[in-house]
Amino acid sequence: MATIILNKNNFFNNLDIIAKYCKSVDKIALVLKDNAYGHGLVEMSTMAREYGIKRAVVRTQREAKLIEDFFEYILVLGEIPTSASQTIRYTINDLNSIDDFAKDTKVELKVDSGMHRNGISMDELEEAFIKIKARGLLLEGLFTHHRSADELTSEWFWQKNNFEDAKKIAKELAIKYGFAPLRFHSSNSAALFRNASFDEDMARVGIAAYGCMKLPEALDIEGFKPVLSLWAKKLSSRKLKSHQRVGYGGDGEVERDEVVSNYDFGYGEGFLRVCANGYKTPEGVELIGRISMDNSSFLSSKDELLIFDDASVVATYASTISYEVLTSLKPEIKREIS
Ligand SMILES: *Cc1c(COP(=O)(O)O)cnc(C)c1O
Repeated sequence: MATIILNKNNFFNNLDIIAKYCKSVDKIALVLKDNAYGHGLVEMSTMAREYGIKRAVVRTQREAKLIEDFFEYILVLGEIPTSASQTIRYTINDLNSIDDFAKDTKVELKVDSGMHRNGISMDELEEAFIKIKARGLLLEGLFTHHRSADELTSEWFWQKNNFEDAKKIAKELAIKYGFAPLRFHSSNSAALFRNASFDEDMARVGIAAYGCMKLPEALDIEGFKPVLSLWAKKLSSRKLKSHQRVGYGGDGEVERDEVVSNYDFGYGEGFLRVCANGYKTPEGVELIGRISMDNSSFLSSKDELLIFDDASVVATYASTISYEVLTSLKPEIKREIS
């Protein structure tokens, strides 16, 4: 099975840049959902704590429980809890779900500022406050998510203005219904870097921390370094003659006499199968034939092969985004911090 190496220096380098934009390490809420974007939830949490990160964002209660001791604040985006907790906050995504939360649960209200995916609409805000109050929930925050922060359009400004309106309304409602002042946040990675005058209570940063953010040139921020690299071990080697063909369907034909080796990873571990014939590693080693479940062949005789050290490059090759390349990597792969 392949190995994932996590580069701590690169991670800390990325956090340095993010902290500068947030104006404080305390305002970074590191997004660790989906096994920390495939990097490994506990491994990334361990390093984040060492750096001084106090806040985390995950999808499920299970993820939150696994890292409860690492952070002072954890926000769960997508699940209604079975029990209340001191550190864990839960998201209200829908007006009708408020009655499903247990009394005294710490909650944050997601408002739909234009993405129309999750969150309650602006004109349901007062109704939400009334329901939250009646249910006895501890409302701590109001937040939203941008749909186009990484695109060079005016949509980001439009949503930002909508959220500013929502904040004003929520501030008044918090006073009216007797809640403490609310925490406000709206920025993911791309939104944070668009906002020179960032002044919210925290930013929910994922892909930038992992060093795989891809932005249009005009929005690009320099200096990020990918944290994750994937390495594989040789299982076997053979000398093939010109025009012999490798793997399922014989798709990979060698053009001359070549040494072809087979390595211990495939789509079963989450390496995208579309990266077939012609994919080249960062060292220029060429993949040959189809990717199998647990095997992939390369024109190489190396015992250990670096498969990729920048998910963005694989993403471009596979016509997808680095998020998908990374979250496809299975939790069973061994992770090492270097
Ligand atoms: C995934 C997610 C983020 C992080 O987005 P990045 O683009 O990786 O920084 C922030 N907020 C919410 C609600 C998310 O779902």
